[in-house]
Amino acid sequence: MSEWLDVGADNYVLVTEGSLLNTGLIVGSERAMVVDAGCGPRQGREILDAVREKTSLPLVVVNTHAHYDHFFGNAVFASDGATEFWAHENCAREIDDHGDLQRRFVGTLEPEMSTGEGENVELVVPNAIVKDQPVLVDLGGITVTLFYLGRGHTDGDLLVGTPTTLFVGDLVEQGAHPSFEDSYPEEWADSLRHISALRHRYEFLIPATASPAATSSSRPWPTP
Ligand SMILES: [Zn+2]
Repeated sequence: MSEWLDVGADNYVLVTEGSLLNTGLIVGSERAMVVDAGCGPRQGREILDAVREKTSLPLVVVNTHAHYDHFFGNAVFASDGATEFWAHENCAREIDDHGDLQRRFVGTLEPEMSTGEGENVELVVPNAIVKDQPVLVDLGGITVTLFYLGRGHTDGDLLVGTPTTLFVGDLVEQGAHPSFEDSYPEEWADSLRHISALRHRYEFLIPATASPAATSSSRPWPTP
């Protein structure tokens, strides 16, 4: 069922439909990194099952920001043995302080997550924190840079850079207009200028959220 797109050596993207999401996967020789975990145990399980078709390595997880579709699936990965959950400090604080308030958004897609009753419905607050300085995460043979460009789509958007690929969270959306709810539009424009300035450094730019029009047949921009 799952269809991974290759986006650079050992870099992959999976589109899952629960809450339309592009999940990243970066596979090193010792560990693999999952970028965004889905909106609850159902989507999280779908992502984890697809990841396990690709690799049996221990997993580390990144939440690009504190919107439910990016972190509500964390508990599924914790149950698989993941202990390292990365996020920007503002994202981790938001999940810790107000994460439960977002359960009301997933009543249809993830009824267990919505009511908090069932398996893998607890909030897993990121425990590996990025502040203003970039952090390098060694997966064995491939090093990933986690970095923050300031406030934008939220106040805690984390970017994930690999030798070939830049995962930008919801700072850029695929086939949809930007989502402004808790954003900082003027600073967001600055972040986008930064991202644009990086375009020669990466072959692939991967938005985290896909619109209904963007299916797995859509190629992330830019293609080589
Ligand atoms: Zn978002």
